[in-house]
Amino acid sequence: MVSNAQSVSLQNRKGRYFCFPPSQGKAKSGETFMKADLKGMSLAETEAWIERQGLPAYRAKQLRQWLFKGLVGRFQEMSNLTKGLRLLLEEKAELTSLEVVETQVSKDGTIKYLFALRDGLTIETVLIPERGHFTLCVSSQAGCAMGCRFCLTGKQGLKRNLTASEIVDQVIQVKRSMDYADRLTNIVVMGMGEPLANYDAVLRALNNIISEQGMNFSHRRVTLSTCGLVPQMREFGKDITVNLAVSLNAADDTTRSFLMPVNRKYPLKSLIAACKAFPLPNRRMITFEYILIEGINDRAEDAMRLAKLLSGLRAKINLIPLNPHSRLDMSPPPMERILKFQETLVDRHFTAIIRKSKGQDISAACGQLSGRHVSGLS
Ligand code: SAH
Ligand code: SF4
Repeated sequence: MVSNAQSVSLQNRKGRYFCFPPSQGKAKSGETFMKADLKGMSLAETEAWIERQGLPAYRAKQLRQWLFKGLVGRFQEMSNLTKGLRLLLEEKAELTSLEVVETQVSKDGTIKYLFALRDGLTIETVLIPERGHFTLCVSSQAGCAMGCRFCLTGKQGLKRNLTASEIVDQVIQVKRSMDYADRLTNIVVMGMGEPLANYDAVLRALNNIISEQGMNFSHRRVTLSTCGLVPQMREFGKDITVNLAVSLNAADDTTRSFLMPVNRKYPLKSLIAACKAFPLPNRRMITFEYILIEGINDRAEDAMRLAKLLSGLRAKINLIPLNPHSRLDMSPPPMERILKFQETLVDRHFTAIIRKSKGQDISAACGQLSGRHVSGLS
C-alpha cells in the first residue's frame, strides 16, 4: 500500500479531495505514488506534511523560505536543512514544474516567456516594464473555454487547468531570470485562461503570492481579471483581498453576448450586481476593461450607456484598442473615435484611461497569447 505520508491529499473548498500534483514517483515496493507539490501548499498544509514525515513543524517555514524567497532550483541548495531532509524531499516532493522553452523580447522591453508544462502543453507569461517597476501577467489555464470572439486564447479552447504550483512557478521562474528581481512588484492574473474557472488553484496560488511566508507581494499590487463568472466573483471577494478587474467590453446584453458567450449565462444585470456586492477596502476601485472594436462597441451611445451602467460603482475604466491578429475579422477604431469615447466618459466624471498594450511585435499583448512558439502559427 502507498502510505498517506507519500501522497498529499487535501480537501478543497467544496469538500472534494484532490491530490498534488500530476507528477509521480516510485515507492520502494515499485508502486507509484504522487509527489508532494510544495509550491501549491499553504503554510499549514506544509507543516502538516512535514509532521507526517516525522519532522518538526518549524522545518516548514524554512522550506517555504527557500521556495518562495530563496527561489532555489534544487533541494540540495537548501543549505540549512540536514542532508537527510534534503534527500527525503528529493524523494517525496516536487520542486520545479515549469521549463522555459523560449523568451522573446519586444522593442518596448516587454518579455514573453513560453513555458512547457510537464505534459508538453505550453503557456505564456509576460513581463512588462513600467516606470520604475515590472508587472508580470500570469496565466491560469492552458487555453480557455470561454470563447470570447476577440481573443486568441479563447480560439484554442480549454486544454486544462493549471495547478496552483504551475501558477506560482511562473512568478518564481521569471524572478529567477531577472537581474533585479525585487523590481517585480505587480502581478496581474490576465494571461491565458479564465482564472475564476480554475478557482481553487488560483486562490491557492494567490495566497502563496501575497502571503508573508510566501512571496510576500502586496495585495494592493495583485489584480485578478475575470470575464464575469458571477458566482465565483461573489466567493472570491470573501476568500481573499486583491484587486478585481472585469472584462466588460460592452454595455448592453446583445453586444456583450455576441462578443462574450459567458454573458448569456451571467448577463449584465447579474454581473453589475456582483460588482456592487464586491467588498472593496478603502479607496479601491474595480477596473473595468473595455476593448474598443470598430463598428461594434465604439459609438457615442455605447459610451453613454457604459457610463449609465457603471454609475454608483467605484469604477475606473481601461479603454483598450483591440489588438488585431490574423484570425480576427475585427479591427480597432481610429484614434479620434477612441478619444471621443474617452471624452464622453470623462465628461461623466469617470477615470477612463486609454491603454495601449505592450509587446505587440512579439504577440505578447492582451488577447494575443496562444501558447504556440512556432512563429506563423498564431
Ligand atoms: N479571462 C480573463 C483574463 C485573461 S484575458 C478575462 O477575460 O478577463 C485578459 C484581457 O485581455 C481581458 O481583459 C481581455 O478582455 C483582453 N483581451 C482579449 N483579447 C484581446 C484583444 N484582441 N485585444 C485587446 N485585449 C484583449
Ligand atoms: Fe478566456 Fe479571457 Fe480570452 Fe475570454 S478574454 S477567451 S475569458 S482568456
